Amino acid sequence: MKKRRPRHDKPILKALTFCALVILVGTISFQACVYINNQHDINEKNVKIQLIKEKAAVIEALRKKPVYITLPGAKPIRAIVDDYTKPDSIWAIVGKTHPISTEYIPPDLKIPDVATRTDKSDDERSVRAIANTPLKMMFEAAAKAGHNLMIGSGYRSAALQKVYFDSLAGSVGEVDANQAIAKPGQSEHQTGLAVDISTLSRSCYLDQCFATTADGLWLADNSYKYGFILRFPRGSEAITGYQYEPWHFRYVGVDLATALHESNLTLDAAWPYLQTAEKTLRKNGAI
Ligand SMILES: [Zn+2]
Repeated sequence: MKKRRPRHDKPILKALTFCALVILVGTISFQACVYINNQHDINEKNVKIQLIKEKAAVIEALRKKPVYITLPGAKPIRAIVDDYTKPDSIWAIVGKTHPISTEYIPPDLKIPDVATRTDKSDDERSVRAIANTPLKMMFEAAAKAGHNLMIGSGYRSAALQKVYFDSLAGSVGEVDANQAIAKPGQSEHQTGLAVDISTLSRSCYLDQCFATTADGLWLADNSYKYGFILRFPRGSEAITGYQYEPWHFRYVGVDLATALHESNLTLDAAWPYLQTAEKTLRKNGAI
């Protein structure tokens, strides 16, 4: 005969079942809370990541945003992303009011593939690599037009500049010498971006009469197409600080050379426009 369980077992069983249910519901609720909380954290984290990504994209877009320069009377040009206050920049301005360290040596000097004065040192026959091809293209175009040109002087160290300056100052005095030749640290020749150009025959060599030669006239009219500017034009002594030098050309790249040609401004007169562009590039985080 089957033995019956005592009647008082049932309430205990019920109580235990109830407790188990409470624990189970509590556990599930807790797990649900943890899950919801985690999901909330993940969502919040994703939103933060998304915001960071969006902010980075805005910063990157600003950094890459083109900055334009419009010189009076010239078509707008895109500002190169560079620090123009550094002598390495092809837009650097160097002169009496913008000296550079006499220790500065350009990083990539090279004797260009054009005629140079072979009685000069390798240094003085050299230019920055960036100006080499444009120089070659300009000399080739000049030759096609019947003008055989030669570089008289390219890069000059500050030490060599001192030799030239002292030599002239010794004969005409320091003040007069400084109208014709820069002091050490104040010459564009030290950047490797300036060249004194002459005819192969050296007629009117480093002389103002070079302006009236067919070669000098061709250079004045065409050099901008290859990125070179006549750096010290006639009548600009007050702003450039130097006398008219129809033989001295400076590489700034085709865009700026063309804008300067169109506006008829010297690099010195255009400098405030360049500075404004550089400030914008700096503000945008591009440099
Ligand atoms: Zn020169």
